[in-house]
Amino acid sequence: ASRYVSASTAATLTVGIRVRPLVRAEIARGGRRDIIRVLDSRVVVVLDPDENKDYLDQVQNRTKEKRYTFDIAFGTSATNRDVYNGTVRDLIGGVLQGINTTVFAYGATGSGKTYTMVGTPQDPGLMVLCLEKIFADRDTSHRDEDFCVTCSYLEVYNEIIFDLLVKSSSPLELREDPELGVVVAGLKHITVTSAEEIMTLLEDGNRRRKTEATDANASSSRSHAVLEITVKRTPKNHYKVTQLRGKLSLVDLAGSERAAETNNAGQKLRDGANINRSLLALANCINALGKANSGKAAASYVPYRNSKLTRLLKDGLSGNSRTAMVATVSGSSDQYHHSINTLKYADRAK
Ligand code: ADP
Ligand code: MG
Repeated sequence: ASRYVSASTAATLTVGIRVRPLVRAEIARGGRRDIIRVLDSRVVVVLDPDENKDYLDQVQNRTKEKRYTFDIAFGTSATNRDVYNGTVRDLIGGVLQGINTTVFAYGATGSGKTYTMVGTPQDPGLMVLCLEKIFADRDTSHRDEDFCVTCSYLEVYNEIIFDLLVKSSSPLELREDPELGVVVAGLKHITVTSAEEIMTLLEDGNRRRKTEATDANASSSRSHAVLEITVKRTPKNHYKVTQLRGKLSLVDLAGSERAAETNNAGQKLRDGANINRSLLALANCINALGKANSGKAAASYVPYRNSKLTRLLKDGLSGNSRTAMVATVSGSSDQYHHSINTLKYADRAK
C-alpha cells in the first residue's frame, strides 16, 4: 500500500518533486551527503551543503535551510509506482475519454529523469505503468469496444526530430494536419497490445538517443525524448457511434543544467543553447498556462511556436488538456546548485 495520496484529480497542472538517493558509486567515492528531506509528502527541505553544520538542528530549527512546497513530493524511498500513483495514474481515465495529457520529467543530468520515465524491468517507469493502466482499464471497462493503442517514440536533438523506433532515422519535419493537428511526417507508429512490449522498445530507443561526453557527465543526454501514446476507442451505444481519441505524451527532457555551467564550446555549446531554447519555451508555456489556470490572466498569449518541443506538445498543453511535471533532484550535496535551480523552476511552474 502506498502512503502517497494522489494530487492530480482536480488540477490541470500537477507539480511533483522526486528526490533520488545517492547511488552506490557516489557513496563509495565519498565526500557527498544526502542533504534533501521530504516532509509530509509535500515539503522539500534542502539543507546547507556545508559539511560542518548540524543537520538535525537545521531540520528542527529551520536555520539556513531552503523550503519549498509542491502538490506532492517523493523522498528517496519512493518507487516508480509510488510516483506514478501520486502524479499520473488518475489522468489515464481522461486519456480514455479523449483528453490530451502531457507528463514530463525535468531535472539536471543524473537526477533521475530516465529512471522515472523508463525505469528498469524490476522498477518499471511511468511510461510502462501508464500503458499497463490503459490495458487494465480496457480489460475491465471497455471489453466490447474497438480499442486501439499506438505508440511513437522520438527525440528532439538540436531542434531536429529523429525517430527512436527505427535504426538510423533521418531528420523528420513537423506538419500541420487539418484533422490531427501537429504531426511528425514519416514518424513510425506501432500498435501495442501489452505494456510488456514497450520496455524493450524504450531501451532500444534510448540507446539510439544522441549522447555526448560533457564536463558535467560522461553520458549526459542532450536530447528530449517523447513517447506518444494514442488511444482510440469506439464506445458502442444504441443511438450513435463516436470515436474518442486521446493522446498521452510522456517526455524525458534533456538535462536542465545551463550551457555555461557545462563549460563547452562549438557544437556542444550549440546543443546547450538549443536545449535551453526548448526548455525556456516550455517554461514560458507552463507559466502562461499556470496564470490562465489561476485566473490571473484570462487568455494570455502562450508561445508554443518558439521551439520544436512546444509545437510538438501544443495539443497536450492547451485547451482542456492536463499536464503533470515530475521534477527530479539528486539528494547529493555536490548537486546542491542543480537541485536548487530545479526546485526554483518547479516552484515557478505551480
Ligand atoms: P537522468 O536521466 O536525469 O540523467 P538517470 O535516470 O539516468 O538520470 O539517473 C542517474 C543514475 O541514478 C542512474 O544510475 C540511475 O539508475 C540512478 N537513479 C536515478 N533515480 C533513482 C532512484 N529513484 N533510485 C535509485 N537509483 C536511481
Ligand atoms: Mg536520462
